[in-house]
Amino acid sequence: MSLPADYHMHTPLCRHARGEPEEYAKRALEIGLTEIGFSDHAPMPQDDFDNWRMNADKLDEYVAKIRKVQKDFPQLTVRLALEVDYLPGYEDWIRDLAARHLWDYFIGSVHYVSDSWAIDDPQKLSEWKNRDADEVWKVYFERLTKAAETGFFEIIGHADLPKKFGNRPPYNLAPLCRKFLAAAKKHDCAIELNTAGLRKDCREIYPSSEILQLAFQTGVPITFGSDAHALEEVGMNFAEAVRLARDVGYRECRRFVQRQKQSAKF
Ligand SMILES: [Zn+2]
Ligand SMILES: [Zn+2]
Repeated sequence: MSLPADYHMHTPLCRHARGEPEEYAKRALEIGLTEIGFSDHAPMPQDDFDNWRMNADKLDEYVAKIRKVQKDFPQLTVRLALEVDYLPGYEDWIRDLAARHLWDYFIGSVHYVSDSWAIDDPQKLSEWKNRDADEVWKVYFERLTKAAETGFFEIIGHADLPKKFGNRPPYNLAPLCRKFLAAAKKHDCAIELNTAGLRKDCREIYPSSEILQLAFQTGVPITFGSDAHALEEVGMNFAEAVRLARDVGYRECRRFVQRQKQSAKF
């Protein structure tokens, strides 16, 4: 059985990843992947929104780089995508991004629970002390639910990101989670098994096996992503992610071609 596609990978254009797309492609072939997708952090309308995404004027360069990899690696399927931040109020911007190129898919991610605080930003780690953790999780899942409802995204990224630094979810996460998963199911939106969590303090794939079980029961499709920000992270821990998905009951994952869905066995 071949490894599933790695649909979550970054490039240096986001200013915090190392290694060029062609190096990632080479690495993918070395470790036996047959399909990958680049999904770098999409620009925001204001370039100074934060310092960990591509500037708006880099978008065409990003697309050109990925198109070149598609051409230079005919033996590898390479998808063109973006990881787009979902914040309420940015719907027009996301629509505008979607219209600019022929994307294969968008990953919708919630990093921001307010206009200025990204919960996973190591430079803003101290902000966790100023917040009520239960409230952070609540807002996070409400935004995730809204993101699924927009219909803008084929995939919802790392669906329990607030655990990154080891902040465990509150006891009653399941109702929030069920609401999100129902929205994902209704709008035919996949969630990803993101192995980057294994490299963070939480030491666990995003999302947790509990959430993944709920997702399976709800009928929410999945994809796989390493969230690689460095060459050695491409396809990292995919065997473990596949095991988790199969343990929960999944046998198929989603693929996307120009925003049309297909399914693949893994
Ligand atoms: Zn990143
Ligand atoms: Zn992310």
